[in-house]
Amino acid sequence: MQSRLFAHGTFRDAGNSRKFEVRNPANGSVIAPVADGGPDDAHAAVDAAAAAFPSWRALTALERARPLRRLAELMLRDAERLADLCSQECGKPLAEARTEVAYAASFLEWFAEEGRRVYGETIPASDPAKRLMVLKRPCGVAAAITPWNFPLAMVTRKMGPALAAGCTQVVKPAEQTPLSALAIAELSVEAGLPAGVLNVVPGSGAAAIAGVFFERPEVRHVSFTGSTEVGKLLIRQSADRVVRVSLELGGHAPFIVFDDADLDAAVAGAIASKFRNAGQTCVCANRFLVQRGIHDAFVERFAAVVAALKVGDGRAPGTQVGPLIDDAGLAKAEAHVADAIAQGARAATGGRRVRVDGCADRFLEPTVLVGVTPAMRCFREETFGPVAPVCAFDREEDAVRMANDTPYGLAAYVWTRDGARIMHVSEALDYGIVGVNDALPAVAQAPFGGVKQSGLGREGGRQGIEEYLDLRYVSWRIGK
Ligand code: ADP
Repeated sequence: MQSRLFAHGTFRDAGNSRKFEVRNPANGSVIAPVADGGPDDAHAAVDAAAAAFPSWRALTALERARPLRRLAELMLRDAERLADLCSQECGKPLAEARTEVAYAASFLEWFAEEGRRVYGETIPASDPAKRLMVLKRPCGVAAAITPWNFPLAMVTRKMGPALAAGCTQVVKPAEQTPLSALAIAELSVEAGLPAGVLNVVPGSGAAAIAGVFFERPEVRHVSFTGSTEVGKLLIRQSADRVVRVSLELGGHAPFIVFDDADLDAAVAGAIASKFRNAGQTCVCANRFLVQRGIHDAFVERFAAVVAALKVGDGRAPGTQVGPLIDDAGLAKAEAHVADAIAQGARAATGGRRVRVDGCADRFLEPTVLVGVTPAMRCFREETFGPVAPVCAFDREEDAVRMANDTPYGLAAYVWTRDGARIMHVSEALDYGIVGVNDALPAVAQAPFGGVKQSGLGREGGRQGIEEYLDLRYVSWRIGK
C-alpha cells in the first residue's frame, strides 16, 4: 500500500515528515499513517506539474490516450485489491466498491478516446483574404480536490478529462480516503504516465493546500467535488486570479413516484438510489414524493425491503449498508430523524442506531419516515445518511413545485409509465440530471453536474473535457 505523497513520478514523505492517520470508519482501526502534505509539498507538486506540461501538451491525443487506457486496464486487473482498499477507507460494501472500480476505470477509457475528438472549427470569413479558425488548447495545470464518498471514481472523473485534454494535474484527495488516490498514482507509474503529469498531495490541512492552487499562476483550473459550503469558499478564492472552477456540490434529490409507476421497479430503484453508500452520495434520493393513490402500497413494500437490508462492516460478506463516515455524519442523520419524529412523522422502519459486533458506534438502521412535511429538516437539507423521508402529494404540479423548492439542483428521479408526463416533468424539474425509471443514471459518457447551488460545469460526457480546454480564435490573413 502506498502512503507517501506523489510528485514528479516519485513517492516521498511530506517535507515536514509529518503523517496523519487514516482510519476505517467501520471499526476505527488505523489503515495506515499517510504523508501529511502541506503548502510546501503542494508547491513542489505544482512545480512538477508545470514542468511536465509543455511536453505532455505536445504529445498527440493518441499518445496521451495510451497510458490512460493502460491505467484503466491496470485498475481492472487490480480490482479486488482496489475495492478492498476503497471499502476500508470509506466503509462502503465491497460489492459497491467493486462497481466503483469499474466506474472509475470507465472515465479513463472514455476520456482517452474523447481526447482524440477535440475538434476545432473553421468559420466563414467576411473578408475573402482571411481564414478564421478556433483551436482548442489545454488550459495549463489543473488541480483537483476530491471527496471521500467515491475515493477512486472522483479522482479519475477529474483526471481522465484533464490529462486527455493535455493538462497536467495535482490531486488533493479527501483526508479520509487518500490511499485510494495514491493507489491510482502507483498504477499510473506502471501504466507509463510520464513523471509530473499526475501528482497527488494528501494532507490533513485541505485549506492550506488549496490555497497554493489559487496562488500559483500556473494553475488554471480547479475542479472540486464536495460540500456547497466549501464550494462557495473556493469561488471566492478563485476571484483574485480569475481561475476557472468546476464544482460538483451538494444535492437534495427528489424521488417522485406517480400512481401509474411500476411499483416493484420503483421500490427497487428507491433502494438503489437511497441506500447506496449508506445514503452518502450527492445524487442519493433525499426525499420521496409519492402520489396519494400509490402511497400506502409503496410505503408498505419499501419499508419491508428496507427492514431486511443487512447492516455491517462493508468488508463483511453480505453487507448492504455500511457505517456513516464519521460521528458528525451519524449525528446529522440522527438529528434529521429526531426532528421529523418530533414534528409528527413516524418511522415505518428503522430510526435507531445499530450495534455491529467488533465495530464502532457508527451505524444507523436503514430508516423510512412517513408523514413527512416540507417543514421538517429532512425535507429541506441534505441528510447524507440512510434515511428515506416520504411525503404524499396529489397533483403533478404539486410534486414539481415541492421538488423545485430548494436551492439545490443536482439529480431528480421520476417513476411513471406515462410518456407525456415523463417529458413534462423532465422539462419542469430544475435539475442537472433526471433519472426516469432509472435510479443510477451516472455514466462516463453523459454530462454529470448540477444547477443552482449544486454546482458549475459538467464532468463526464463530451462536455467534460471542454472544462479543461481554452478556445483560441485565430484570424489568418492569407492575402492582401
Ligand atoms: P464533506 O463534508 O463531504 O467532507 P468537504 O467539502 O468538507 O465535504 O470536503 C470535500 C473535499 O474538500 C475534501 O478533499 C476536503 O479535504 C476538501 N476541503 C475541505 N475544506 C476545504 C477548504 N476550506 N478548502 C479547500 N478544500 C477543502
